[in-house]
Amino acid sequence: MDKDDKIYVAGHRGLVGSAIVLNLEQKGYRNLLVRTHAELDLTRQEAVEAFFADEKPDHVFLAAAKAGGIYANNTYPAEFIRDNLMIQTNIIHEAYRNNVRRLLYLGSSCIYPKFAPQPIKEEYLLNGPLEPTNRPYALAKIAGIEMCWSYNRQYGTQYLAVMPANLYGPGDSYDLNNSHVIPALIRKVHEAKVDGATTVTVWGSGTPRREFLYSDDLADACVFLMSLRDDEYAKLLGRSGTRVESGAPGFAPLLNIGAGVDVAIGELAEMIKQVAGYTGEIVFDTSKPDGTPRKLMDSSRINAMGWKRRIMLREGLCRVYSNFIGHCNYKKP
Ligand code: GDP
Repeated sequence: MDKDDKIYVAGHRGLVGSAIVLNLEQKGYRNLLVRTHAELDLTRQEAVEAFFADEKPDHVFLAAAKAGGIYANNTYPAEFIRDNLMIQTNIIHEAYRNNVRRLLYLGSSCIYPKFAPQPIKEEYLLNGPLEPTNRPYALAKIAGIEMCWSYNRQYGTQYLAVMPANLYGPGDSYDLNNSHVIPALIRKVHEAKVDGATTVTVWGSGTPRREFLYSDDLADACVFLMSLRDDEYAKLLGRSGTRVESGAPGFAPLLNIGAGVDVAIGELAEMIKQVAGYTGEIVFDTSKPDGTPRKLMDSSRINAMGWKRRIMLREGLCRVYSNFIGHCNYKKP
């Protein structure tokens, strides 16, 4: 990836895409291509066709997706499977038709089986049943990996799929129902503090464990991978790639990107209490789903290539909390 190459970041207003744009700008990439949802609806095949034919990007970061927390996944399953299948199919196919050199496809750790051995290695893909709360999203994302893999095999494209851990960062969604656990708890704890409430309710039992990665760290890993030398990048996709026993022949272009540590949701809630300076109590609402019991990925492959996460959880939580208080003009509804 050269500094003047035309780089399309799909989903540049989202948590991941916005962090990728920032990282690219900081590293001196000058020719970034972005479109808002209003300018380009990625679920519409003809619009995506016209966009790629006009713009002819050299590289693509596919960070556009319909994403959300456990409640949103459970409540809007049709949208999660349909929108994601459409967005990724349109972009991957047009990237191929327009000779895009490298494409980085963003997946998620929820593509792995619900009871995968921990830490989860790339080769556990498709080795067991999925967690039902986010199965429509996970199946769409798995279809995207399979597409990258199939296009690489049949057309010789150079598409790489990365699986990030649970993400958090500035500019996340704070909607109480649809957001992920970190923004949801930041908002709940902050509101409880402002209101002088004595308790905060956390969904589930508090025992599920999650691995959290700060969005800037993920963006850094994505740009690191897309700017690898040709021989290093080819090696990632080639014979030294991931063999998936139950999958298609060859090597899945699949790479985990995680923090290497996980935390129980109950401990996370305690950390957020400290970050916000809230002294009330945490109560658990066990009528709400826990989801997967544990999701810790094995990121040793990307670590061995020289990339490591930089931002520890507590520091990341502090950054997100100050972003929430300082910049979002948050007013209690
Ligand atoms: P998941 O990894 O797909 O389950 O993503 P989430 O971020 O939505 O949820 C992670 C875990 O946090 C689950 O066990 C949730 O039940 C739990 N959790 C606790 N309180 C909340 C909350 O207020 N919002 C969300 N989204 N999850 C919560």
